Amino acid sequence: MPHIQQLESHVADLIAAGEVVERPASVVKELVENAIDAGAAAVVVEIQRGGMGLIRVTDNGCGIAPGELPTAFLRHATSKLRTSEDLGKIGTLGFRGEALAAISAVSRVDILTCQRGERCGAALHLEGGVPGQVEEAGAPEGTTIMVRDLFYNTPARLKFMKKDSAETAAVAGLMQHLALSHPDISFKFIKDGVEALHTPGDGKLDSAVYAALGRDFARSLIPVEGRGGEIAVSGFVTQPLMSRGSRSMQVFFVNGRFIKSQLLTAALEEGYRNQIMKGKFPGCVLAVALPVTAVDVNVHPAKTQVKFAREREVFDAVYHTVLDCLDARGGAVQAPKSAERTANPRGDFFQSMDAETFRHRSGPLTKQPPRPVPPAEKARPAWNTEWKSAAAVADSAPQRFGYRTASGGALGTPPPSVAARPTEEEPSREHVSAKAPVKPEPPARPFVPAIPAERQKLDLPGQQTIEPPKEAPWRIAGEVLHTYIICESEDGCVWLIDKHAAHERINFDRLKAAQTPPMRQTLLRPIAAELDRETGALLLENLPLLEQFGFACEDFGDGAILVREIPADIDAADTVATLEEFAEKLRTGRDPVERRESLLHTMACKAAIKGGWTSDLSELKVLVEKVQSGEVRYCPHGRPVAVKLTKYELEKMFKRA
Ligand code: ADP
Ligand code: MG
Repeated sequence: MPHIQQLESHVADLIAAGEVVERPASVVKELVENAIDAGAAAVVVEIQRGGMGLIRVTDNGCGIAPGELPTAFLRHATSKLRTSEDLGKIGTLGFRGEALAAISAVSRVDILTCQRGERCGAALHLEGGVPGQVEEAGAPEGTTIMVRDLFYNTPARLKFMKKDSAETAAVAGLMQHLALSHPDISFKFIKDGVEALHTPGDGKLDSAVYAALGRDFARSLIPVEGRGGEIAVSGFVTQPLMSRGSRSMQVFFVNGRFIKSQLLTAALEEGYRNQIMKGKFPGCVLAVALPVTAVDVNVHPAKTQVKFAREREVFDAVYHTVLDCLDARGGAVQAPKSAERTANPRGDFFQSMDAETFRHRSGPLTKQPPRPVPPAEKARPAWNTEWKSAAAVADSAPQRFGYRTASGGALGTPPPSVAARPTEEEPSREHVSAKAPVKPEPPARPFVPAIPAERQKLDLPGQQTIEPPKEAPWRIAGEVLHTYIICESEDGCVWLIDKHAAHERINFDRLKAAQTPPMRQTLLRPIAAELDRETGALLLENLPLLEQFGFACEDFGDGAILVREIPADIDAADTVATLEEFAEKLRTGRDPVERRESLLHTMACKAAIKGGWTSDLSELKVLVEKVQSGEVRYCPHGRPVAVKLTKYELEKMFKRA
């Protein structure tokens, strides 16, 4: 073993920098957070080549005194923290005094700053963390920092950078979050000379939402506001019928800091329980405000996670705020009584409850999944108040908790401050936009496109129709709940077949075996999918891949994607949700093979008949045929497609055996 010795300080600095500065977006995050902490009213962020060429952040904040300029770039040098006690009550975004040191250690930095009220400012150049001389310079009030040649002296890190477009997308996504976290600040984001975001900074969250996330998303939102003890929750959540294909539109802030939190996600989604379909997720822009002493922000290197002192209270505050506001807008859609189901089997039922939930409530035939418990409960089972089941809480929430809630109309109209945005000047978008289509009643859908005619012939040789052979060793006894086919096989077994799962599997196998891209349909009216910018950019980066899956898309500007063609067996109304799911899978897929498989899952699922839809007997027969032949056993997610009860099992149930 070589001798142990302390690392030279510049090596230690590079190692420390690696934790703070992972990619251009982390530099932007730290610099903009500094600008916010400096009390800026306007922040402009410019990047070139995804931030690898240049990052420039300009603010009109308090500026830095010339004499303190070199100190600001030292490690652990901060104006925001003095004592260890201060760590327990951090009210600023920064506090570690590491960002400027870390950024300057791995790039070339120029800073120009002028304190408020001063006539003359100061400039400093740093190269790999080594500062030059502080020079007097004329400058407007505030600070401009330019970061060039990021990672020029850390080739190992440089190697891991993604394509410029991916880095740009990451910065764009970050800018959205920063802009939403501070509606009182005007943010401008310019990428490669083109303005990509500009918020008015008028202090209104709806203005920021409209500017950052687009008109369509803004329209899908309802305002929420609530307070429980010292915790205030405010912002917007999506209307239940406007839910999303992924969680990418869930944006949470805690005391003005954008964070990722499973606790808050769980609380939000619990508020929507039984109101949105399985596989759909609510979107939100929710700000949680609580005393700085009740939250520890010093738990994550990038400060994107926090620890709440009383998780349970935070969970409750978010959950009740969301639930109460949804209730106030017409009440949570409860599962109808069985009589209503019979009278109106398709009505709202499947919009309000998924098959899984129904299975859970309705009987002993299938194994019951345990009721999911929010993470807060798992983490701390014994909070001062006893956890009530969500259902129990839902029944009495408004009275017991007395949350002050506000609910109003959807965010349909642009706030006046942003009403003149360019989208308004593009009437074509008005016409083609097909955002989150509301399906008041799921349509009975033709089955044929899902298994194209030529394929059916291939699968069932020698047949002109999809009728099973007369001598089929099974018969369909019926369909229940518009979801399960009941079938009896010759050997005396009773089968319950989940029609969606079966069809999904068939689709998946077909798509996987196909040598050519799926058949396409050209949309009569192209769809302008308004996605969040990061999602949009990710999809645009993968246009050839989308082509392979049957989507012809193009950049529609401003984060939107214009979709002209979609796979023949996908409902046009599912286009946006499918693309969102694609993006999620592109983001999370570990390798190309896994990614392809999971994209095929999405395609297979979207192309399948859904539980709750009315199906033709001939459709059901095709599915049963496949299940009975043993070709289809599990859905692509591994869930069983069919449950088989032998005669003996039935007899045992009825105490005959
Ligand atoms: P931290 O933000 O954790 O204090 P940084 O390394 O990011 O650490 O910044 C060091 C110090 O430099 C800050 O505490 C602040 O006093 C000063 N500073 C950095 N950026 C700005 C800015 N844009 N405007 C005014 N002061 C700034
Ligand atoms: Mg900082």
